Amino acid sequence: MILTVTMNPSIDISYPLAHLAIDTTNRPKTTTKTAGGKGLNVTRVIHLLKHPVVATGIVGGNFGRFIEEQLDADGIAHHFTHIDQETRNSIAILHDGGQQTEVLEAGPTINAAEQADFIAAFDQLLVGCDLVTMSGSLPQGLTPDFYATLIAHAANAGKKVLLDSSGASLQAALQADVKPWLIKPNETELAGLLGEPVDKTDLVRLQKQLTHPVLAAVEWIVVSLGKDGAFVRHQEQFYHVTIPTIQVVNPVGSGDATLAGLAMALAAHQDDTAVLKTAMTTGMLNTMQARTGWVDAAQFDPYFSQVHVATV
Ligand code: ADP
Repeated sequence: MILTVTMNPSIDISYPLAHLAIDTTNRPKTTTKTAGGKGLNVTRVIHLLKHPVVATGIVGGNFGRFIEEQLDADGIAHHFTHIDQETRNSIAILHDGGQQTEVLEAGPTINAAEQADFIAAFDQLLVGCDLVTMSGSLPQGLTPDFYATLIAHAANAGKKVLLDSSGASLQAALQADVKPWLIKPNETELAGLLGEPVDKTDLVRLQKQLTHPVLAAVEWIVVSLGKDGAFVRHQEQFYHVTIPTIQVVNPVGSGDATLAGLAMALAAHQDDTAVLKTAMTTGMLNTMQARTGWVDAAQFDPYFSQVHVATV
């Protein structure tokens, strides 16, 4: 079983509008509201591909209950810590032929007692899992080293962690004594980590960048490159992964779907080539769906066979 951590989930609300009018009323004809947050996208993809998964994190209030009901409706197992403050909403207004304007609430502020409750529940959940994924930003009230703390707890239980975050929480996890087993930065996140530009066409430089002291102790670094696949270091071995050209419907959540594929294949102890082919396939399948964090399992095999992994 894979344990997915979503510390700041949200109800993702989508408002399609032909035109967004400012300083007046807009009335979308259809609205979708889904259980969101990067970690829940990871969870849904793992579940759709029929691998056992349990979602954890913190939810609160009526909006938190809505998220749990959505997961129940999808048949996804979950074990969230409950707080009184409401879980946040994230609003995406899709308008004017492809523009996307977002309003993202900060969400609740987690206090020390709630943090301790979550960690106690997390310790229990670790017992029954094979590995852990952690995704997305941290809610207010948690310090940037919170993922590092969770990674240390996972290590105590003998469990490895795949971390997909950015900014201060990623930096803190990389500076801690116990490192994440795998990180999955995209180009922008890698550039932020290294404090220097990243050019995906310069693979020689990219290879050198993945041995930067900041990253040296991380076993797996999967740099996802959108339509250009991925460049990867596993210990001392480098891989360049290429993918076919596909019809993209909605690329949002591709990185989350990629993390789902990595987790599934690593939990199943597959070899490096199969791990990377699985991850690229789940990323691609997500881009082919209108829904974020969604894949069509029936399409897995034909796309898997078109991913090429070359050692560098
Ligand atoms: P993130 O969503 O974290 O920015 P990427 O954009 O790198 O991550 O996408 C993750 C993976 O999803 C890619 O490695 C690839 O497998 C797939 N993917 C994303 N965008 C495309 C695209 N335009 N065409 C084909 N595959 C894509």
